[in-house]
Amino acid sequence: MKFHTIQKVLIMNIYLDYNATTPIDRGVLDSMKSYMEGKFGNPSSAHVFGWEAEIALENARQKVAESINANPDEIFFTSGATEANNTVIRWAYEKGIPIITSKIEHKSVLSPVQYLQRKGHDVSLLEVNSEGLPQLPISGLKKGSLLTIMAVNNEVHTVCDLHRMGAFCKKHDLIFHADCSQALGKIEINVKDILIDMLSISGHKIYGPKGIGALFISKKFQKKFSPYLIGGGQERGLRGGTSPVFLCVGLGSACSLVTGNLKEYQELYTHFSHYFIHSLSEKKISYELIGQPIGVRQPGGVSLCITGLNAREWCEKHPEIAISQGSACNSKSGSHVLNELKISQYKINSVIRVSFGKDTKNSEIDMLVNAIHKQVKSMASFTNYKK
Ligand code: PMP
Repeated sequence: MKFHTIQKVLIMNIYLDYNATTPIDRGVLDSMKSYMEGKFGNPSSAHVFGWEAEIALENARQKVAESINANPDEIFFTSGATEANNTVIRWAYEKGIPIITSKIEHKSVLSPVQYLQRKGHDVSLLEVNSEGLPQLPISGLKKGSLLTIMAVNNEVHTVCDLHRMGAFCKKHDLIFHADCSQALGKIEINVKDILIDMLSISGHKIYGPKGIGALFISKKFQKKFSPYLIGGGQERGLRGGTSPVFLCVGLGSACSLVTGNLKEYQELYTHFSHYFIHSLSEKKISYELIGQPIGVRQPGGVSLCITGLNAREWCEKHPEIAISQGSACNSKSGSHVLNELKISQYKINSVIRVSFGKDTKNSEIDMLVNAIHKQVKSMASFTNYKK
């Protein structure tokens, strides 16, 4: 059935779900190609093939570091943000460090933390306000706890003030980790400014390949860290396993791409958000924005409740227009984020998440708005008829 649908929609598919994943950039792919073909060396080998791979690996590390203003020896390659987030949490658990996080984190944080809580570990889950901002506790904080917070929420696009969080952690002597998977390339991240100990990123959210990400661990903090994959001592002893050079090269290129074009992309993404909202208003489609206002929230991320829209039905009817109802990761289980924002179930049924990227076109947004208009209009005339 799914295969049949894919075949049917191949002609005019529209992708407006960049928070789920991004298409790989042509330049990023080109930078990887020679390491997928001829240059196959193991970066740990002590001969020319190894040296060639090692140079590529270290260049890539340098680029990742530059994108967040870190030093190369503070970057550890991982298989993605899930691994990076899990690593931080597992480390805290092993050291007996209490963990504080919010109730609307990505499942790669929330699920391990809830698992540890069930095992009796000290875990605090912070409430969020109606914009999706975590409510930081003012009392009862235990010194040395880990605060892990996402910089940009993948479903409702809330931007957390990392500077404020960093200052808060410093003041209360907390360890600070931020999941920046959705933030890199959309907001500026400078680890020297935000007083942060650890930070996770993901390649496939920034026009890079899937299966690669990185964990930043500040130099000062590294001494406290222990190996999380024990093997051949790669990644300066913290993560064993032969490095996937072509993926690391791709991540490096993607980091340079999105941070080198940050201002331009921010403007473009914000333009698309305004254009979408404006087009809905022009068609007299009534909506309620979820989370922060445009201009404050993640550029290019719009999550809204559309009056009269049955979101599930609409998405099923329009597989050729890729948007989502919540996040890709929650597409089967329902959204814990919308529930925590205290959105009524009635409204949740009308919520869609649209996210734009560098290849988005106004005409694609027009098609989305026309298709929404069609369903909302037919629902309205049905309701009027019943009256
Ligand atoms: N954190 C956030 C905020 C995400 O959006 C995602 C991906 N949906 C992840 C972590 C997991 O990233 P990865 O797919 O690289 O494991």
